[in-house]
Amino acid sequence: MQQISSFPRNQARRSWFPIGYRSLKPAIAWLISSVMSDSREKAETAAFRTRNLSKVYGTGRSAVRALRGVDLEIGRGEIVVLLGPSGSGKSTLLNILGGLDRASEGDAWFDTQCLTSMNDRDLTRYRRNHVGFVFQFYNLMPSLTARENVELVTEIAENPITADKALGVVGLGQRLDHFPAQLSGGEQQRVAIARAIAKQPEVLFCDEPTGALDSSTGRAILRVLQDVNKKLGTTVLIITHAAATAAMAHRVINFADGAIQDVHLNKTPIDAEGIEW
Ligand code: ADP
Repeated sequence: MQQISSFPRNQARRSWFPIGYRSLKPAIAWLISSVMSDSREKAETAAFRTRNLSKVYGTGRSAVRALRGVDLEIGRGEIVVLLGPSGSGKSTLLNILGGLDRASEGDAWFDTQCLTSMNDRDLTRYRRNHVGFVFQFYNLMPSLTARENVELVTEIAENPITADKALGVVGLGQRLDHFPAQLSGGEQQRVAIARAIAKQPEVLFCDEPTGALDSSTGRAILRVLQDVNKKLGTTVLIITHAAATAAMAHRVINFADGAIQDVHLNKTPIDAEGIEW
């Protein structure tokens, strides 16, 4: 007994391993650090990736090819502007990335989650927890105040900020108890943005958010989106007809006929106030 208890621990271990732990240590450390830095890199850079993403509406003679094999990468925390003529497939792409529609072919990932292999329940959870939407028309409940419209979301979200805070971020902290009819178009769009960001989504999808607004109000709304991106780190995707909006984006994607024509990285995005329409 005496002999066994005094046997050095590491010698006992050595007898189990053909190669000593010490000689393996550098290799193990390298393996762990390379796996960690790889996943960190992915998490920091790619909010979305698509591979050969395709969408066909309808069948036979009436089939419409809305997306034709889109390969795309969107960085986390970027403002991305999608430009292209009407019917070129921008909304279709946004709807698939937002979990509102399904691709016909190809794949799309949000971070490490494959959207194109999710079932309906997973897609609903994805929409509820990770993404917010802003559309051209504000879709507010007319009988509810600004605060109550936002609370519709905060009451069911997993990790919301308060309605008051969300309305503060969009510059409507003084109009909490106003009804939509008492607000201008630009202010109603701010409420819609507050509603979309209140659940703290990682991504905000905006389909023609300034389409119903005059140019100076449109600029103010783009400024709000820029603030959301800066203050909350939200990745923002904006579909627009207004090519000048590209100046405020980190990444500009030009679409035509269901395919990407070119992608432009903008190293010095300007403040939205400086956009010339
Ligand atoms: P954009 O947003 O660039 O205007 P869309 O993505 O809305 O383009 O549309 C791309 C093409 O897909 C268009 O030809 C459009 O008519 C067609 N499309 C879009 N949605 C549907 C649908 N639900 N059913 C059939 N065709 C559709």
